[in-house]
Amino acid sequence: MSILTIAWSMCTAASFMLALLHLLLWFKDRRAYIYLLSVMMAVSAGAGALTELALMHATSVDAYRKLIQWENLFVYTLLLPMVWFVRGRLPSARLWLAILISILWTLAILVNWLSPYSLIFTEIRTLKQMPTFWGEWFTLAEGPANPWVHLSNLASVLIVMYVLDAAIRSWRAGDRRQASLVGGSVATFIVLGGIHAPLVDAGVVETPYMVSFAFLAIVLALSYELVSDAVLASRYAIEIRASEARWRSLLTDVQLAVIGVDPESKINYANPFVERLTGYRSGDLIGSPLASLIPKTDRAELAERLVAAAQTGPRPHSRWNLICASGERRSLAWSNVRLNDANGKYAGLLSIGEDITDRLAAERNLQRTRRELERLGRANVLGELVSALAHELNQPLAAILSNAQAARRFIGSGSPDLVQLREILDDIVRDDKRAGEVIQRLRLMLCKRNPKREQFDLRDSIQETLAIAGAELEAQGISVKQEFAQGLPQILADQVEIQQILMNLLVNAMRAVSASPVEQRELRILARSHGADALLISIDDSGPGISADVLPHLFEPFFTTRSQGLGMGLSICRRIVEAHGGCIWGENTEVGARFSFTLPLAAPEERHG
Ligand code: ADP
Repeated sequence: MSILTIAWSMCTAASFMLALLHLLLWFKDRRAYIYLLSVMMAVSAGAGALTELALMHATSVDAYRKLIQWENLFVYTLLLPMVWFVRGRLPSARLWLAILISILWTLAILVNWLSPYSLIFTEIRTLKQMPTFWGEWFTLAEGPANPWVHLSNLASVLIVMYVLDAAIRSWRAGDRRQASLVGGSVATFIVLGGIHAPLVDAGVVETPYMVSFAFLAIVLALSYELVSDAVLASRYAIEIRASEARWRSLLTDVQLAVIGVDPESKINYANPFVERLTGYRSGDLIGSPLASLIPKTDRAELAERLVAAAQTGPRPHSRWNLICASGERRSLAWSNVRLNDANGKYAGLLSIGEDITDRLAAERNLQRTRRELERLGRANVLGELVSALAHELNQPLAAILSNAQAARRFIGSGSPDLVQLREILDDIVRDDKRAGEVIQRLRLMLCKRNPKREQFDLRDSIQETLAIAGAELEAQGISVKQEFAQGLPQILADQVEIQQILMNLLVNAMRAVSASPVEQRELRILARSHGADALLISIDDSGPGISADVLPHLFEPFFTTRSQGLGMGLSICRRIVEAHGGCIWGENTEVGARFSFTLPLAAPEERHG
């Protein structure tokens, strides 16, 4: 059995098998011309191998001459597609080199057919029989070399440069797999085939031609690539199936409506949530216009939006109502994306919608409740103010009444003491003014939120308040001690309101001590700094003190322990103090009760600003 025949036949079979595989691939994907180039290369290599085998067994110069011409032709039909194959796989390959190599080889092959003894020889003088190292004989020709053979030799050198350059550039660009596979295999083929064959031509190496064997490097590389692609494709297929299953279950379970529309604005996808929400089956929805799902009144606007979406893309967020099969209307907040086909052309829209019907209803309820609360709050404040007004007016009106009655008695006595009468009338005037001020103050409280701020001396205000209550204090035999710290700064506050607090606390204290024996009726008013930026004012009395069950409710509106009381005095005091940024509290002392409040030296907005 001839080993040479077996080896070269196997080489032919391998090449033809590769050609067949790539031909099949090309049938599957006609646009992939690169498969055709592989087919041409592999067919040429197979045909070349058969020619090489025939050369080995050639017995006449004439046969050898023709066979070597065919061998060169097959080398040409192998190399030419190979050059363009490299460019297809490694786009960084230089075009001008590919063209130059193609021209050189085309010239060489013309010379090959025009010279009687091929591109290699000018003449074949003899055929000699050479033994292989295992003792098999093969034929080699002897004769002077054809100088045109340098054309193909030069082309071979250029191909090596062309491939290595393209491989290096692709490697650097990051395409390492193609660079090593294509670059490595083609370079190996050229080095083996392109160096070995000229050496045989020149008689330096005495072996059969082995161009087709060198091509096995490419067969191996391309087969490896095919297998890798197949393995990769099956792995991708598994991943795609898994990913599809994930998306499908997501689209099935998600509590969001997902609707796809085609460029004609017809529904081409609706997930199960849409079916559950609208009551339509997906089969009925698909193919029907999107507009059929929305209320008639919105359809014109939808049509406009869809036209705009096709031209410039949809609005990322929108809100549309859907009409369900039952006629119910659901509000949805949509996120929209434009879909493009492989060529970047508009292929429709995908919209994902959240059903916000219940949320909107809840928001409406909340707003209604809030409005009601506000109304209630206003009513409360009004009620409080009315009570406060009654409370505040009570005192001056009572005083006016008793003074007026006293004046009538004086007049009725026949010889009225005019001096006393004048005093009574003065008191009436003063009380009347106070009542007027109260009304004015409460009106201001009602109209504006911020009290009026002015600088004044607190000591003056306290003394003025004491002067107003002076007659009453005297009548009840109540002594008042005043303790003012040295150099108290002026405060910035609403003077009328502060006096209102002082008066309330003073009246409460007077009432508290009224139950005590006259010699124990004692009040103490104290004013001092409280920290760096506030004043503290407290009014102590020697009354019964505040019982433990009253203490927590002192400042609550309408809380009172007195039968005639309204329970508004302290609550108004707290409101005023807090509006000024201070605080107020009541406590027991060893001898009675103490009510204290603080006032910041600057207005709250000034302190914060
Ligand atoms: P009113 O004076 O109409 O009762 P207030 O708001 O002024 O309402 O006071 C609420 C309650 O606080 C009073 O009913 C009383 O029980 C208690 N109170 C106020 N001041 C004193 C005080 N100096 N000593 C003891 N209890 C007081």
